Amino acid sequence: MRGSSPRMTGKNRRSTPYITEMRPQDILMPVAAGLCCKPGGFHIDPVRPVERAVITHGHSDHARPGHGAVLATQETLDMMRLRYGDNFAGSTQAIAYGEQIKLGDVSIKFHPAGHVLGSAQIAVSCEGTCIVASGDYKDAPDPTCAPFEVVPCDVFITEATFGLPVFRHGNAADEIKKLLASVALFPERSHLVGAYSLGKAQRVIALIREAGYDAPIYLHGAMEKITRYYESRGVALGDLRMVKGMKKADLAGTITLAPPSATSDIWTRRFPDPVTAFASGWMRVRARARQRGVELPLVISDHADWDGLTATIDATGAGEVWVTHGQEDALVHWCTAKGLTARPLDLVGYGDEDESDPVPADEDTEA
Ligand SMILES: [Zn+2]
Repeated sequence: MRGSSPRMTGKNRRSTPYITEMRPQDILMPVAAGLCCKPGGFHIDPVRPVERAVITHGHSDHARPGHGAVLATQETLDMMRLRYGDNFAGSTQAIAYGEQIKLGDVSIKFHPAGHVLGSAQIAVSCEGTCIVASGDYKDAPDPTCAPFEVVPCDVFITEATFGLPVFRHGNAADEIKKLLASVALFPERSHLVGAYSLGKAQRVIALIREAGYDAPIYLHGAMEKITRYYESRGVALGDLRMVKGMKKADLAGTITLAPPSATSDIWTRRFPDPVTAFASGWMRVRARARQRGVELPLVISDHADWDGLTATIDATGAGEVWVTHGQEDALVHWCTAKGLTARPLDLVGYGDEDESDPVPADEDTEA
């Protein structure tokens, strides 16, 4: 906690020369493979194959195949299995939210990150110092996953995908209203919503259902497995059908979800006069929407916006903040101005899922 952790100050370190104290960077350190926990013998979200990986969530930049042992929530393990096949890791172990496990000299605990189904923040504790690696997270409500939990800690590791004051996502339900208004206005056209296949698509469907729309919603084939998986975990998504095999005329007046990359290729020719929408935090930037040929931008993000990032940092009480992937500078500056110790971690290999959701080659024409 800020101010209550004497080991965090240089003054205290100097006054107790005979006690070996763990500095945060002795517990977790950025290396080429990702965040390395030496005393625990593992890496968090490694971007290269390692012996023991602890993984925050199922997005492909965080959850990669080829590790020796993988520790993650059951949902994250299942998503990795769906994407990479049964042999995605040497061995796996599932951990529940709130469960504590000892690894080497550290203990770790998983807490909900509110990002996608099964996403977790990982609290790493060692000799009284607690570091929380939050992976990707959002503090906004999401009917498809457990809500974000504030975890008090000494060091908070935060993403910064939308780490600029210009990013304020607003209310996702209002964006869905825009979509449904457009569907009502153009009954002869189809609506094609680009949404990342894991998480965003299911959240958009759940939000559409919450808004009272109960007609069938159509899916690109690349989304079927993961969406059915969400349903198997108790996330109700209503009547879902595949686009494949549908007659063009029958898609008039309907809503279809597809990976963002599919909404700009020949796949869209099967739709009658499609209105192209895209659900992403980046849709706050008009130039991005124009660049992608998006007619109906929907500002819906699975990452915290500027207010979410700063409110969360405040709430953790952390005296030190490490900023990873995204727009690090402004957030580091904000922390420093508040008297917190802050630094960018310069981790390489993590991106924004909305910008990287390629359609598998075999799904491209088939779906
Ligand atoms: Zn993610």
